[in-house]
Amino acid sequence: MTERVAVAIVGGGSTGLAAALALRAVGVDVRVYERAPRLEALGAGITLWSNALHVLRRLGVEDHVVERSNPLVRGETRRVDASVLVGFDFEPLSRALGAPCIALQRSDLLAGLARAVPAGVLEFGAELVALEDHGGAVELAFADGRRVRAAVAIGADGIRSRVRAHLGGGEPVYSGYVAYRALHASVESTVPRGLAFETWGRSKRFGALRVGGELVYWFATLNVPQGSTDDRRRATLLEHFGAWHAPIRGLIEATPEASVLRHDVLELARPAELARGRCALAGDAAHAMTPNLGQGACVGLEDAWVLGRAIARFGATPDALRRYAQARRERVARVARDSRRAGRWGQVESPWLGRLRDAAMSTLARPVLARLVRTTLERGVASLDALE
Ligand SMILES: Cc1cc2nc3c(=O)[nH]c(=O)nc-3n(C[C@H](O)[C@H](O)[C@H](O)COP(=O)(O)OP(=O)(O)OC[C@H]3O[C@@H](n4cnc5c(N)ncnc54)[C@H](O)[C@@H]3O)c2cc1C
Repeated sequence: MTERVAVAIVGGGSTGLAAALALRAVGVDVRVYERAPRLEALGAGITLWSNALHVLRRLGVEDHVVERSNPLVRGETRRVDASVLVGFDFEPLSRALGAPCIALQRSDLLAGLARAVPAGVLEFGAELVALEDHGGAVELAFADGRRVRAAVAIGADGIRSRVRAHLGGGEPVYSGYVAYRALHASVESTVPRGLAFETWGRSKRFGALRVGGELVYWFATLNVPQGSTDDRRRATLLEHFGAWHAPIRGLIEATPEASVLRHDVLELARPAELARGRCALAGDAAHAMTPNLGQGACVGLEDAWVLGRAIARFGATPDALRRYAQARRERVARVARDSRRAGRWGQVESPWLGRLRDAAMSTLARPVLARLVRTTLERGVASLDALE
């Protein structure tokens, strides 16, 4: 038997869940189809900036998420001896934008969104295997044989999106570096609450910040050839970062090997076409970007809100999806481009370019960085009302 629904969202990550909340709030018949058997949050910690907090506020989940987070007060880009290349105060920014910047465990973000989704909307164990837009409706087929007919389908199914493949979108490409990530139980508070530091070497970076409770989220990046693997992650990290400033060595040593994640950093070379006919893309499915600005999930939340508004105003129709795509195209392309540039800058290999970079960072970067961050967030907040 074929189920019928107005909006079928494929993928129950932060983008898909947020889109479901935005749509349920205006009474739209929506279902989220998630292939995982339960809520799963890979990737340790996450930072959410003021633009994302504005979305969470509109969705009614801000308080729940903020209670489980640590606010970001000060950001520092450092040299390997701990001296500060450029410092950044979050509080004036948060005040100006009317919402904080926070860090939390990914699982807390997903749980905070999922608990607000009404029963029966989110279905686990539902892996999309095929989809067809017949013009009058979209037919979705799932691995367990189930079939769904929807007025529109939203691909929020992440970087390897099947919905994007259906729309003829491109494959992700390798950025040139890998990311290691972990959560560390910091009873002795190795990283002060409110501080986020990122230390820049040549072709590598290490960063740490507190997330909710007493946990520290740390991450590292390394330029390595595509496809390389590492079965001795802590040893690799100690070789590269063991002599850097405290508490870097201690964080790596105190984290069990099995808790250290390692992923190629991938991105879409350019954002996919955001809508065609009765299908649209949102979040990483549409514009997976490098993590250098900490904006991937934030921009996905923006997408979710704008998509919800488009469908609320123009119905579950191709017209609504077209308007959504028009409202989002430039915004997502710009953030992805800025993030890519920031990564190239951060992962510089050549010693002389590195010296030039550090000199520029310590003399010029503060106002430039502050302006970049502020305009990125302001544009994000403004973009939420693009269709009003
Ligand atoms: C190292 C690193 C650090 C990052 N740090 C930050 C940060 O600090 N701040 C920030 O804002 N962003 C950050 N990001 C980006 C952020 O992780 C992503 O942008 C965000 O998780 C994307 O959410 P999403 O819901 O669009 O996709 P995903 O989180 O990938 O969710 C997609 C969902 O779809 C499901 N799915 C996939 N295929 C199917 C299918 N066929 N059928 C059904 N379900 C399916 C998956 O199981 C998954 O649950 C970082 C990324 C990386 C790699």
